[in-house]
Amino acid sequence: MNRPLLEMTLDELRAAMTDKGLPGYRAEQLADWVYRKGVTDPAAMSNLPAGVLEGLDILTSHIVERTDSPDGVTKLLLEMPDNERVETVLIPAGNRATACVSTQVGCAMGCAFCATARDGLRRNLRTEEILQQVLHLRQATGREITNVVFMGMGEPLANYDATVAAVRALIDPERFGLSARRITVSTIGLPGKIRRLAKEGLPVTLAISLHAPNDALRRRLVPAAKGTTIEDIVSAAQTFFRSRKREVTIEYVLIRDVNDTKLCAEGLIRIANRLRCNVNLIRYNPSEEGDFRRPSAAAAESFAARLRRGGVNVQVRRSRGLDADAACGQLRTRSEQKNAS
Ligand code: SAH
Repeated sequence: MNRPLLEMTLDELRAAMTDKGLPGYRAEQLADWVYRKGVTDPAAMSNLPAGVLEGLDILTSHIVERTDSPDGVTKLLLEMPDNERVETVLIPAGNRATACVSTQVGCAMGCAFCATARDGLRRNLRTEEILQQVLHLRQATGREITNVVFMGMGEPLANYDATVAAVRALIDPERFGLSARRITVSTIGLPGKIRRLAKEGLPVTLAISLHAPNDALRRRLVPAAKGTTIEDIVSAAQTFFRSRKREVTIEYVLIRDVNDTKLCAEGLIRIANRLRCNVNLIRYNPSEEGDFRRPSAAAAESFAARLRRGGVNVQVRRSRGLDADAACGQLRTRSEQKNAS
């Protein structure tokens, strides 16, 4: 079994070089190629002797499909050695290039509106498989990744150890070197795991996918919420906020006539004001025939205006990459349908 280079600190890489009888500085050169230049092909690492990567893996996944949408969003479908597939997305905005990474193949949370949820959880991604997505996106687009959001397929906090290890690699100045402030972990809201994350000392932004202002509606939209309450999530989020001094974001997928009513807005205002958080509204992105409908842009704006009048910091997120099937799980689903037909 080869060792995953992306999971090794520079010190560990140095030790691996020494074990091979190579000078320790080969590790710095290797890290320079991989993390600074984004190069993973040993043949292109001109200053390194052959065999330097023997016993080490960098990329074990490969791109099987790529879609580019007119607004600049690039989405990749990656296949891993066991033939499982996940999506990863690059969203450019000015000087920023945000990688949206997956943490699981499939997802066990079962959200009623989400394409990934349909087939359930197949497996967790390993730390290196999460990190490989960042390298693939960089190589495929030539853009240096400045921000990472854990908002792809899967529930990051249900794959806790790999997610935290991936965050640590991303903020390690000797590896990806990102600022923790440019990393967002998005969760369906697992209170125990949020409290644990608060103790890790990682000043990442926490985004909570709330989607409903009361437990009854929330349990309908988010079956995994059965064992939790919004109250418990709010209290865990407050713990996170206090320990990390990092603002929490609420994600709210707006579904027409389901959770976009005046009553829902009023409930959301109360929660958001208690948390003093930012609210991101995302208009439901229909992925298949279903019971849900997408609200008009005007309806989303008036929901947002109501929140603003209630003193909430709110923005309606643009649904970028709709053409690239950029909503969670949609590229994989479409690709499977194509293969099946
Ligand atoms: N499990 C994590 C991260 C994955 S989902 C979480 O729940 O936060 C990332 C975001 O995409 C979530 O806010 C989710 O609600 C949203 N999303 C999923 N399917 C969607 C759809 N069909 N339309 C719009 N947003 C969707």
